[in-house]
Amino acid sequence: MAAKVGIPRTLFYYVYYPMIETFFKELGVETVTSHKTSRKILDDGVREALADACVPVKVFFGHVQALKGKVDFLFIPRVVCLNGKTIYCPKFLGLPDMIKHSLDGLPEVIDTRIDVRDERFAIWKAFYSIGRRFSNSKTKILVAYLKAKKTLKKYQKLMLEGLTPEEAMLALQHKKQRAPKTGSISLRFAVLGYPYIVHDNYISVNMLDKLKSLGVEVITLEQVPMRWINKAKLKIPKDMFWTFSDRVLKSSYHFFENGGVDGIIHLTAFGCGPDSMVDKYMELKSKEHPQIPFMSITIDEHSGEAGMFTRLEAFVDMVRRKKEAMADA
Ligand code: SF4
Repeated sequence: MAAKVGIPRTLFYYVYYPMIETFFKELGVETVTSHKTSRKILDDGVREALADACVPVKVFFGHVQALKGKVDFLFIPRVVCLNGKTIYCPKFLGLPDMIKHSLDGLPEVIDTRIDVRDERFAIWKAFYSIGRRFSNSKTKILVAYLKAKKTLKKYQKLMLEGLTPEEAMLALQHKKQRAPKTGSISLRFAVLGYPYIVHDNYISVNMLDKLKSLGVEVITLEQVPMRWINKAKLKIPKDMFWTFSDRVLKSSYHFFENGGVDGIIHLTAFGCGPDSMVDKYMELKSKEHPQIPFMSITIDEHSGEAGMFTRLEAFVDMVRRKKEAMADA
């Protein structure tokens, strides 16, 4: 019987799942994901995680519990740095330890460290050490790794073209996507935030679909090409240390300085340390560019649909009036 590896449906799931799935599949290993985030998953996570953890980490705890008893391994690699410049948030780095020391009765945790600053070919070496658990053939592991990389490229391309992670995963499997209900599109917003917040419909209180139903075309981080991000120069002494935070902030700089959107929303999580800086820098930048309305929304485990929808409606209405007034002028 094939070994089963559990992948929590959150955090890196939105960025790398198709790659991970392909790698394991090529080695004859079954990947099992937890269900979409639900009230139960969130409540389970809140019960077990440290009280001052951010919402996404609490949700991660819930997803791990949902996989308990169903898999032979849990895949929680310690991903430190993948681009040689920025590192992942400290909470990402500590995830394997937090999980292993907080939850009992877990299967073996695959917590391989990945840091491209350590040595050449660090990513391949990390995948090789993961693959050795399931195969003695170096060639087989190398083929699995190369196929996984290819899948990742296709996945990223689909998202760059405008598909959400969920839609891109379905497209990779040649499955049809459910078209969201949209009003007649008249506005375009950049909704910037970490993929595991923006694309988790439960945590984001379905924000993307709501905006689409209000006639707003949405651009998210995945649709911002790296060349735009690399061009954006932050007017701060150093770049952000943290990978996702750096991308979010530079994307906002790009839109503030070059336009192309009618409004910018920063979706952030209560308890997020890096975002306390990112959000402030965005706010300061928005003051230099008042022609592009900016709103920050913080979600926590108690965020409700009604409150969120009211704020979105008000913001969309304000941006629409402003645009009409400018067109008249
Ligand atoms: S970046 Fe913020 S939201 Fe994401 S894991 Fe770190 S603290 Fe939590």
